[in-house]
Amino acid sequence: MPKLDAMLQIHQFPCLSDNYGYLLHDPASGETACIDTPHADTYLREAEAQGWTITNIWNTHWHPDHAGGNEAIKVATGCTIVGPREVTRIAPLDREVKHGDTVALGRFEARVIDVGGHTNGHIAFYLPEAGMAFVGDSVFALGCGRMFEGTPEQFWSSLERVKALPRDTMLYCAHEYTQANAKFALHADPSNPTLQVYCEEIDAKRAQGEPTVPMRLDRELETNPFLRADDPVLMSEWGGSVPYETFAALRAAKDDF
Ligand SMILES: [Zn+2]
Repeated sequence: MPKLDAMLQIHQFPCLSDNYGYLLHDPASGETACIDTPHADTYLREAEAQGWTITNIWNTHWHPDHAGGNEAIKVATGCTIVGPREVTRIAPLDREVKHGDTVALGRFEARVIDVGGHTNGHIAFYLPEAGMAFVGDSVFALGCGRMFEGTPEQFWSSLERVKALPRDTMLYCAHEYTQANAKFALHADPSNPTLQVYCEEIDAKRAQGEPTVPMRLDRELETNPFLRADDPVLMSEWGGSVPYETFAALRAAKDDF
């Protein structure tokens, strides 16, 4: 076990109307990364309150509530911006990364995983040593992102890569959408007792104003209908001869729910 003071620190805070901001800090090197940049001033203020100086931005995808603060944070801090090529639609990158690449924060390494589907170039950052994955708008607690750019086959392949991470991985998604997702999940998979217990906990947390994010992968594997599109019960209920067809049916139903 590393010494406690050598461990990666994370600061999570609400941003815009329903985004989560994340700052990752490595005390040994003093480096600090923004995971996406929904709002520059909020990030700069939160970093200052922690006594941290932002050195890196890691973008998951190009949407303005994820990369819109890049330029102002760069001007304020001179940080290095890393992300998928699609981010250059709205702001320059210092380094373009793709599936299989690694990025570093001090001695901590993050692996880049292709999770395209919400946008084509969407990536996640997985930190094996810390047991964390920053999944942006690909996977949400009990949900997944809208399929704005990709195809069901592509999106399902992305979800399979997330499903294959170690089961105790903590997933940090970018929005607090969980209660709305829970309503659809109960509609999609009404006979799942684990899901029912999870939904009660979610309602209790939200009633206290607590975040439902991050969430543990193993629990999502048992309850998130979009990660369970290969489950025989959901496949027979929602149709599809292969899981991505079931995923497509679930995604379309959620869009109209
Ligand atoms: Zn998005």
